[in-house]
Amino acid sequence: MPEAMTIGVDIGGTKVAAGLVDSSGGITHKTRAPMVATGDAATGFAAVKEAVDAVFSEFPEARAAVTGIGICAPGPLDPNTGVVLNPPNLPCWRDFPLAAEVERVFGVPARVDNDANAAGLAEALWGAAVGYTNVFYATIGTGIGTGIVFDRKIYHGRTGSAAEGGHMTIDFHGHRCGCGKRGCIEALASGPNIARRARAKLRGGGKSRIVELAGSLEQVRAEYASGFHLDWLDPLGFENSFAMTIRGQDARARRRVHQPVHQAEPGHGVLGIAHAVRIRRLNLGAGELVR
Ligand SMILES: [Zn+2]
Repeated sequence: MPEAMTIGVDIGGTKVAAGLVDSSGGITHKTRAPMVATGDAATGFAAVKEAVDAVFSEFPEARAAVTGIGICAPGPLDPNTGVVLNPPNLPCWRDFPLAAEVERVFGVPARVDNDANAAGLAEALWGAAVGYTNVFYATIGTGIGTGIVFDRKIYHGRTGSAAEGGHMTIDFHGHRCGCGKRGCIEALASGPNIARRARAKLRGGGKSRIVELAGSLEQVRAEYASGFHLDWLDPLGFENSFAMTIRGQDARARRRVHQPVHQAEPGHGVLGIAHAVRIRRLNLGAGELVR
């Protein structure tokens, strides 16, 4: 009897990645398929099928060993029903029953969750947050996503959409976000939106005065870090056993976020919990380590 294994599937706007995962989180037989996110639902699902089929054809023994398929996809989605609702980055799927389709085609149980929740769970089980009871995970890049893991289980809340930290409004009069709300953290602080705001300010032409207006690069970094501190950590109200993992950006940029959060003044956060937060470099994902 072969060791029970699972297949992990990561769905993005341009590609689907799949991998065979053992019971200790080790990944073997990684595959990839191009995702056509702008076509119809069946074409989008064909990419998922192609990536998973490729795992089975590379390692045929997996057919008997795989006991489940875990899928992460951009939200919004319902992790309880496995239905992908209406993600801006996957217009091919509207109310698409992804988990049910995977179960029908491959004959094993399937679960769907958003990518930040899945990555946070992986860090809690096998990565940087091992040993911590309460974990907050942040992925910062083209988009901003967050996840909360309590006692090695994803916290979904009542509706299944808890911990959508990237779409917390911090400026009611701010720019319209891709999710439809105004002034979300993502609409202000994701990579493309930082560039958009800079371009808007520079549109008049002339020399950039960004650094001069901000004061210094250090002040920009400190403001960026305190934004995380105030907007995410305080409302969560965590105390000890808290790990925050940050993924995205390059290693140097992440280090610059870590340091100011740790050095924040005790009175900076409403609950004064900065000292209790342990910010960890990620252990999982090639090229994602912060040293
Ligand atoms: Zn938003």
